[in-house]
Amino acid sequence: MCDRVLEKLSILADATKYDVSCSSSGSRRKNENKGLGNASNGICHAYTEDGRCVSLLKILLTNHCIFDCAYCINRKNNDIKRAAFTVQEVVDLTINFYRRNYIEGLFLSSGIFKNADYTMERLVRIAKKLRTEHRFNGYIHLKTIPGASDELMKEAGLYADRLSVNVEMPTEQSLALLAPDKKREDMIKPMKFLKSAIIENREHKKVFSKTPLFAPAGQSTQMVIGATPETDLQILWMADQFYKKMNLKRVYYSGYVPISNDRRLPAIGTPVPMIRENRLYQADWLVRNYGFKVSELLNVSDPLLDMQIDPKLAWALKNLHLFPLNINTADYKLIMRVPGIGIESARKICEARKHRKLDFENLKKIGTVLNRAKYFIEANKNYERTERQAGQIKELILSESQSKYFKNFTQQLNLF
Ligand code: SF4
Repeated sequence: MCDRVLEKLSILADATKYDVSCSSSGSRRKNENKGLGNASNGICHAYTEDGRCVSLLKILLTNHCIFDCAYCINRKNNDIKRAAFTVQEVVDLTINFYRRNYIEGLFLSSGIFKNADYTMERLVRIAKKLRTEHRFNGYIHLKTIPGASDELMKEAGLYADRLSVNVEMPTEQSLALLAPDKKREDMIKPMKFLKSAIIENREHKKVFSKTPLFAPAGQSTQMVIGATPETDLQILWMADQFYKKMNLKRVYYSGYVPISNDRRLPAIGTPVPMIRENRLYQADWLVRNYGFKVSELLNVSDPLLDMQIDPKLAWALKNLHLFPLNINTADYKLIMRVPGIGIESARKICEARKHRKLDFENLKKIGTVLNRAKYFIEANKNYERTERQAGQIKELILSESQSKYFKNFTQQLNLF
């Protein structure tokens, strides 16, 4: 690799470190053409402790940008070293790294050269060359450029596994304040387009199995959190709308890293809200997988997530009247909601109780985290809570898990 490309790589890989939306889950692309790679489930994942993917070549096509979004290191008025890859350089890098087993796919984003279509056309060309000239079957995630045409979005979907359109700010007001060049509509329109195109493709595929894939890993978005005053309730509500109305696969929450002395933003040195980011992911997970409604976790008079405990435990403590739950008779959906019991453990409990009455010992073997669950369940006369108040239970659980919490916090902060 020549020095010039290496230099570009160091600039343009570094420029993506604030972008967290690179999970490769959900693609169904298989190697059926004797080409390179295979992005089917289970192959392309590599996550750090906090759920970030590390196995993709994650770069920008360029960090030049005509826009001036205040929260972004690549904004046009920031005095930084700029670089741009050619289409062929990104293709060569991807193939080269893939062959050496350094990566399992490509995560490609970009600042905006000239205009949205000019930039998007290059991103599409890279994905197209990889798929058609190199028969590359590894994972490709393309960040779309706000305002790009439907035609280019359509072409992008033919070659990328996942497409994302970043909404950036949780509300339109914050976007207008910090990214005055961007319009919410330029993000919502492509999201709607992708939603319809993905649905249409799935329907076609049911009838004509040879229909080419279209963004098989769906679409995602990212919101910067902590740069503006939105509450967790507003953020989760917005994410929920995206899941419901746009069929998004994932909403990523990116804690704002202070990078400028702009008075509209938190000052340099303000801690990155990593714990908040983590709590938002946990709440998001509960909504997507455990059947919680956002309104059950937060409301207007209580709009912020508890930073000390996870949102499932916080919900249970606010709803002590629903507990203790008799583990031998309760409904599966309620068992899932018990702190310390996950989806898989709840399923195992329901299966095991068909054969015997379960007690705490049995639950431990099944995988229940008893030092949390014991305050909320009753199992064959095993029962712990007595008449404790929510605050006391919280203190007990926190004191028992102190070392674990501390370790997790330290890990998160070390990632920066
Ligand atoms: S358009 Fe994207 S790259 Fe350009 S300044 Fe805004 S966030 Fe940064």
